[in-house]
Amino acid sequence: MKCRKCRHPDTKVLESRESKDGMTIRRRRECQNCSERFTTFEKEDEQPLQVVKKDGTREFFDRNKIMRSLSVACQKRDVHVRDLTSVVDWIERNISQSEEKVATSTAIGEQVLEALRSLDSVAYVRFASVYRAFSDPEDFAEELRRLSQNPNRNALPDELVRTTSR
Ligand SMILES: [Zn+2]
Repeated sequence: MKCRKCRHPDTKVLESRESKDGMTIRRRRECQNCSERFTTFEKEDEQPLQVVKKDGTREFFDRNKIMRSLSVACQKRDVHVRDLTSVVDWIERNISQSEEKVATSTAIGEQVLEALRSLDSVAYVRFASVYRAFSDPEDFAEELRRLSQNPNRNALPDELVRTTSR
């Protein structure tokens, strides 16, 4: 970390503290050359989140990919982009809180279903039909039965829980 005053490359860390969001480290630094003191906010080197696909191969977790399938499922439905972002945030949080920072694509698909079940029933059935690759009408009927059961709301963050009165 270069000194912001004299550009000297060596600075000493006087103090480190995790910021409120837990994502950045606040460091108080002192230049070894001119003794200028300054504060930096540094992002920790995070282990990248990974997804294990059905065929066993891995790929990096991609927020945009989930956002795209959510957008397709919610097309022309009364679901706010903010809600979709919350779904993706929630899924990302779940993976980052896991020990290995890995989730299976199946687990992610189930979480998307859980969230959509609370947000919008049409979007839910649309996503399920693609995700579960429905091949006959009985599959739809089965999914509609699931829909009528209570979602597992305990698993969802508050911002994704919709009351039945809505
Ligand atoms: Zn300096």
